Amino acid sequence: MAGCNTAVELSKKGHEVVILERDEDVLRGTSARTPGRMGLGYHYFDSETAKLYMTNTVEFMKNYSDCFLGDETTSYLRDGRYFITKDSLVNLQDLMASYDKISDHFEEMCRRDSSNDIFHKYSLHRSMERSEFQEDVNMDKVAFAIETKELLLDWKKYESRLKSELAQFGVAVKTGFEISRVRRTESGKFEFFSSLGESENADYVINCTWQNIDKINEMVGIGDAKTKKDDPNKSVTSRLKLLAEVELPESLREKHSMFFCVGPHAMFSNLGDGIGRITYAPVTNFGVTTENQMPEDFERWLNRGLSSEEEQEYGRRIIEGVAEYIPAMKDAKLRHVIPGIVKSKGEVNLEDRKSPFHKRNYDGVEEQQIGWVDNAAMKLFYALANAQKVSEIVTAQEESTRIIKQIHDNFFETTSLVLVSVFESNLKRNFKSEDILSDPEKLFNDIERTHQAKMNLINNLTPNPTAYLRNHKTLVPKSTLVR
Ligand SMILES: Cc1cc2nc3c(=O)[nH]c(=O)nc-3n(C[C@H](O)[C@H](O)[C@H](O)COP(=O)(O)OP(=O)(O)OC[C@H]3O[C@@H](n4cnc5c(N)ncnc54)[C@H](O)[C@@H]3O)c2cc1C
Repeated sequence: MAGCNTAVELSKKGHEVVILERDEDVLRGTSARTPGRMGLGYHYFDSETAKLYMTNTVEFMKNYSDCFLGDETTSYLRDGRYFITKDSLVNLQDLMASYDKISDHFEEMCRRDSSNDIFHKYSLHRSMERSEFQEDVNMDKVAFAIETKELLLDWKKYESRLKSELAQFGVAVKTGFEISRVRRTESGKFEFFSSLGESENADYVINCTWQNIDKINEMVGIGDAKTKKDDPNKSVTSRLKLLAEVELPESLREKHSMFFCVGPHAMFSNLGDGIGRITYAPVTNFGVTTENQMPEDFERWLNRGLSSEEEQEYGRRIIEGVAEYIPAMKDAKLRHVIPGIVKSKGEVNLEDRKSPFHKRNYDGVEEQQIGWVDNAAMKLFYALANAQKVSEIVTAQEESTRIIKQIHDNFFETTSLVLVSVFESNLKRNFKSEDILSDPEKLFNDIERTHQAKMNLINNLTPNPTAYLRNHKTLVPKSTLVR
């Protein structure tokens, strides 16, 4: 989803875009394996995370308002409910205070920009009476409930809209292209090789491969994928999560989606037509890794799915677990168990309210160097805002590339194309577009200083600097930067 939305945004700006997709089609990764729950911030009690979630979701809804489930006649498909459990990690008072802040933030967003007012009311949740839900849930577990304005993404509609946008804006899609190797070419481009031996090259790369982002960065020596593992604040954890799709018993077909919080509990999303997607944290949080290469069992499930015995076993345990919260779920019939990856920074401990897992105030866009940006949609609804952000970064990178060329042309004379490319790619590697655009003059002075130091060294080391420079084809200063 991150990749397709980004491709559309970049194509709209006139870039020639090619998507390299390892699957037989786009939109089959983790994004297609979720219940599509929207977030207005109720999911997180950390206020920064809640605000980011709401801001990005509103942006998404403004553009894809026709891609959500439910209407006036099927209100049970809208207005997701949150059930605060008696053993919630966050006490009710703190939680309600954080929920109130969500509506305040929305009101502020609407005042700043009236086009954000997509719900036509500022209060985005209401407290529920016990009588409204006591027959649906296990009251031994539940302390309180709210109903929110949150909706569910209609994946089929969204998929079809995004695919027609890809076609409309002329995005080329290369499927069956599993990136297995990347190298920098002498002219400073990036060249990608598929496991089947095909190749493609590009000036700018947006790495949207979700669980494989760090693995691919490592192939080309970009980012700090290797070292960040040792820093608990920076390490990226990939969590393999299972989701069961079930046929709902008659009594649950017209029930609102339910999320039990805060902690490792259960979730039920009603997708309509008698289909539900459910999770039960003690079973569905299968395992975690901080490695760039997914463990073998993760890869097997992600690529080929669970075996039918595994599906039956995990499906049974998930249904039984969710039935502890929603007793009628015991009569649900299993359709599939679907694996996917959730990524977050730092270690994951669902049972500790202080775990970084509960604070995810980052969007997943990271400019690694000029010419390379990572884009992980930390939530489905970040895909559009992230795409817009990436598009702005690419514009800044193009401008930076122009400045780098100008610095080069005005500062050096060289006979070697290889040296030009080494010079330019060193600058691209070591500076972000922000550093270059904010103060090109400083950059120029820094280069001049470094260069002078190098010249002094050469002068001291060699009796004949002119011959040395000719033999080593070292860059020679030319004139000052012209802007
Ligand atoms: C069980 C579960 C439930 C979730 N529920 C929700 C929810 O309700 N709401 C929500 O907002 N978020 C939810 N999430 C999180 C959400 O799914 C992710 O944040 C989002 O899907 C990430 O999108 P993406 O486009 O970055 O990754 P993906 O959708 O995985 O896309 C990555 C793409 O890269 C391709 N790729 C990978 N490696 C290579 C390679 N080597 N070469 C070429 N192509 C490659 C893949 O095939 C895929 O097409 C859930 C996640 C899980 C696992």
